[in-house]
Amino acid sequence: MEHALVGGGAGFIGSHLCAALVSRGLSVTCVDNLSTGTRDNIASLLNHQHFTLLTEDISLLDTERWVRGDMPAPNYIFHLASPASVVDYLRLPVETLMVNSQGTHRLLDLARACGSRFLFTSTSEIYGDPLVHPQSEEYWGNVSPNGPRSCYDESKRFAEALTMQYWRSYGVDIRIVRIFNTYGPHSRLDDGRVVPNFIGQALAGEPITIYGDGKQTRSFCYVSDLVAGLLATMFTENVAGQVFNLGNPEEHTIVEFAEIVSSLVAEFKGRDGQDERPLLEWRDLPIDDPTRRRPDIEKAHKFLGWEPSVRLQDGLRQTISWFGAGHEHETISAVRGAHGAGAAE
Ligand code: UDP
Repeated sequence: MEHALVGGGAGFIGSHLCAALVSRGLSVTCVDNLSTGTRDNIASLLNHQHFTLLTEDISLLDTERWVRGDMPAPNYIFHLASPASVVDYLRLPVETLMVNSQGTHRLLDLARACGSRFLFTSTSEIYGDPLVHPQSEEYWGNVSPNGPRSCYDESKRFAEALTMQYWRSYGVDIRIVRIFNTYGPHSRLDDGRVVPNFIGQALAGEPITIYGDGKQTRSFCYVSDLVAGLLATMFTENVAGQVFNLGNPEEHTIVEFAEIVSSLVAEFKGRDGQDERPLLEWRDLPIDDPTRRRPDIEKAHKFLGWEPSVRLQDGLRQTISWFGAGHEHETISAVRGAHGAGAAE
């Protein structure tokens, strides 16, 4: 039986990945300190005979137990361990720097010692506020080296460099993906991201908070498409040392997105939301908030045969049902918490 180690496996994307790996017949060790992930995300896996949770910090991980053979040597290591929403990484900035630097170092050493294939999850944030649109993998980015977001984007850039160097210097079979904005079940209502914020606000009947003028754009990928991209990257032969953008190229302004979410939440509540205009509440734009973002996914299509297939409306309907199912009170209080965090940026 093949074995996978998933750093950050209790997080939003990691938990879906763990479930997909177990259902492909792999045994999975999930390492997660639960700083932003939750046990709830992996509740369906916790009693599975081929799933193990280690509640530990990747930055401090003692990897000797795999090297000694006390734990099964992983054939595959997926490194998704990092706070990833703006609210989370600004709350945990040093931890974010450490898990992407020291944590990546530990997992790369483990991959080198065990002969594991290694996948690092980088981010579209390495492109910063991009001067090239859409962003292809060749673009080097426009990033502040020490601004408030640098704990995330610069540590991801360092991790990309380190990961690539383990391939060049030691021949470790590495792959890097840059994840663009992703949404779906298991994201937290209080993580401050635009999708949970807007859905929570619309479900609670509260105004939708728009940061800045709302003309900035993002492109949203449903989590099942993203996980399919992670699996394709890991399990495709002959793509060692390659970097791939993973995301959905359908681009919307944030105000357009507020209108789409609002009308789908109205539909969820049994109203015809087509002609409903959402009530908007304007807030300051966070520092260094990128003005536009859209992935060029030609390379992933060509080498991995991957492209997203879930339509925005369908993915949002799934996400709204997940958030809306019996959690109305938690929804309202969690959203109030997220408002505070977003405004403080
Ligand atoms: N945003 C917004 N209202 C919110 C949350 C976010 O207008 O309640 C904006 C935010 O300023 C950014 C975009 O939505 O321009 C996406 O924000 P998110 O934090 O989800 O992701 P990122 O900035 O990392 O792409």
